[in-house]
Amino acid sequence: MSGNRVVVIGAGFAGIEVARGLGRAGIPVTLIDRQNHHLFQPLLYQVATAALSPADIAEPVRKVLRGLESVEVVLGEVTGIDTAARTVALKNGAPVSYDYLVIATGATHSYFGHDEWSDFAPGLKTIEDAREIRSHLLLAFERAEMSRDAAEQKRLMTIAVIGGGPTGVELAGSIAELARHTLAKDFHHIRAETATVLLLEAGPRILTAFPQKLSDYAMRKLAKLGVTVRVNTPVERIIADEIVAKGETIHVGFAIWAAGVTASPLGKLLGVPLDRAGRVTVNRDLSVPGLKDIYVLGDLALTPDANGKPLPGLAQVAKQEGIHLGRALARKILRGQTAAPFTFHNRGNTAIVGRHAAVFDFGWWQFSGWLAWWFWAFIHVYLLAGFQHRLMVAIQWAWRYVTYESGSRLIVENTRER
Ligand SMILES: Cc1cc2nc3c(=O)[nH]c(=O)nc-3n(C[C@H](O)[C@H](O)[C@H](O)COP(=O)(O)OP(=O)(O)OC[C@H]3O[C@@H](n4cnc5c(N)ncnc54)[C@H](O)[C@@H]3O)c2cc1C
Repeated sequence: MSGNRVVVIGAGFAGIEVARGLGRAGIPVTLIDRQNHHLFQPLLYQVATAALSPADIAEPVRKVLRGLESVEVVLGEVTGIDTAARTVALKNGAPVSYDYLVIATGATHSYFGHDEWSDFAPGLKTIEDAREIRSHLLLAFERAEMSRDAAEQKRLMTIAVIGGGPTGVELAGSIAELARHTLAKDFHHIRAETATVLLLEAGPRILTAFPQKLSDYAMRKLAKLGVTVRVNTPVERIIADEIVAKGETIHVGFAIWAAGVTASPLGKLLGVPLDRAGRVTVNRDLSVPGLKDIYVLGDLALTPDANGKPLPGLAQVAKQEGIHLGRALARKILRGQTAAPFTFHNRGNTAIVGRHAAVFDFGWWQFSGWLAWWFWAFIHVYLLAGFQHRLMVAIQWAWRYVTYESGSRLIVENTRER
């Protein structure tokens, strides 16, 4: 008789919920992640723009799962999967055997074949990325303060965000606010509020996943914040201090990449067909066609909804899938029940366009402005409090956020020279 050890790779929104569900049912689980923390990625842009500290949005995985006796946590990077031997290879450690395998390793940046751009325009996916961006951003202003050359000061205070999706919009709005409201009071030789914040988008509009009227609203709001938005402007080259976009050379103090994501490379290890974004097509119960006892979910999966349309790469999709699979797998292991298909319940898609302005899309209803912002803030206080089990931290965050008192303006030592 086969055993019932479940190995879960990835302690993000999807994997942590699977481990939690199985742990509550007393099923032996090994949860492997290369980071020791579970990360609340939707607020990463606030760490990158000095509004929050890393510890506000990351919790140790061991702490999150404390008390679940059957769940073992392994800090390790998975480098191989042997589906015949039913083992998972680790970079530093002995292979781990499984009876059921759950893969939830998310997504990573895509530079569309130009990986060399990552040296000059980091993307935002991890705490390290956010700290690096924060340091470069703050350093650009420090260097401008030191310079006595007006043209050099202008270059250093030109920040380009590449990619007009929610992350790019949130970063651009937040950087403009940082310069105009927080840094404006702190320097002697520069006027930080005159910084140029550029948002470059290759397509015809920003926030393409949202209806046109919400894109238009975001364009107007960003302009009000002082962000220069350029659509139909593909970036063709990025080198140190310079971007070429639509044939024009732009001298920049710093650039951030928010233009593309691709699925985690672990999908390739399964030897099954992948879509163009590297995602594994799964059945509606999240199992992988042709592979017994293997499940893929979250950003790594191409999950069809009831109408066969792929679900978006969102935290709420990953979390709901994790909760579903945790319960379904527990029922299968304990009672031999067949897993039910996953059904997504849309709780609304949102993006922040600076303080006091947001867009919300529930599919059947869309709204924007102050109300949307309060809605967003309320939901994130709730989510952060639930995430950290610390209501006070969430309330302090909300207060700092409303009052423009930036939380963590630290330049850290390991910032790479560019
Ligand atoms: C900046 C940013 C902002 C976002 N904002 C929003 C938002 O506002 N709303 C929203 O709904 N969604 C948002 N998202 C998307 C959302 O965060 C993802 O959809 C969600 O995190 C996917 O969950 P997941 O569990 O699939 O992967 P993740 O949460 O990315 O977790 C993957 C885990 O796998 C681990 N891992 C990866 N490879 C390996 C390996 N080889 N070995 C071991 N461990 C590994 C990683 O360390 C990580 O812990 C945002 C994402 C980003 C990057």
